[in-house]
Amino acid sequence: MFDAGVRVFSLKLVLFLGLAVIMLAACSPGQDQSREPNRDNIGLQGDTEPFYPSAGKTPQLKGGPEPALRVEMEPDSPSAFAGQADGGDTSLENVGFGELQKQYPNTVVWRGPTNQKRVALTFDDGPDPRFTPAILDELESNDVKATFFVMGARAKEHQEILKRIHREGHVIGNHTYWHPNLEGESVGQLRWEMDETNDIIQNLVGIRPNLFRPPYGIFGTAHTESLAANGESAIFWTVDTMDWDGPSPEEILEGVMEDTGNGSIILMHDGAHWTGDMNNTVEALGPIIRELKREGYQFVTVPELLNVSAIQ
Ligand SMILES: [Zn+2]
Repeated sequence: MFDAGVRVFSLKLVLFLGLAVIMLAACSPGQDQSREPNRDNIGLQGDTEPFYPSAGKTPQLKGGPEPALRVEMEPDSPSAFAGQADGGDTSLENVGFGELQKQYPNTVVWRGPTNQKRVALTFDDGPDPRFTPAILDELESNDVKATFFVMGARAKEHQEILKRIHREGHVIGNHTYWHPNLEGESVGQLRWEMDETNDIIQNLVGIRPNLFRPPYGIFGTAHTESLAANGESAIFWTVDTMDWDGPSPEEILEGVMEDTGNGSIILMHDGAHWTGDMNNTVEALGPIIRELKREGYQFVTVPELLNVSAIQ
């Protein structure tokens, strides 16, 4: 029995590892991903190699790229390292959320107050007709409000879902239009991404979000200054479910229960690349909510958690 169990486990492990290698080869530069950021290494350099997505740059076309040129986006991933000075425009370099948070504590946020047992669920990369409606159903049946960082291009394409997010009392944040890697991108390009997305959201539901989440967690000093000047906030995260990386619902639940504490901002995804499958996120969501509630946590939106305005 034991041997058979081990063999089954090994087979699963081999299959999982094989799949993981294929996925990493297909959509990321192969960085050893971990559940960071967490409170222990906030502000530190980290010991991982810099994370440079190979795709996700917004082509420099007026009004954005044609649909045929849309980005092959990658999932969000923390970049817990400091950028190296290479003689370029250092204000545009990714300096890592920890460094940015130290420099701009009022603009760059990764966690709420730790003196209250409150947490915020956040969902990135939607609206996605494959997964967002099921996530909204799950939130509704558990009476929880969440924060959705949406992509402009997808909001434009799936307008009814964006309206539903708003109608059901969730908070909408800005996650750029095309989901570019902003490293080295000008502030003008950032503002184009944000404004285009805010315009679509405003046209559809009548509000302009105040909260922004940088794709891949990659952001530069100049970008942050631009947000600060506009009274906007860059929202990172405390708990990374890595749900895009193929964990089972049980593994997602386990990771969340392990990493969540007072004030945690939990990163999940309701949208994905067309080859991506977030059904395990949908499946894990109910158990996550029920388990955390059982431990006494209250679910709030990000602006509630931080006591900031959700809209401009
Ligand atoms: Zn994203």
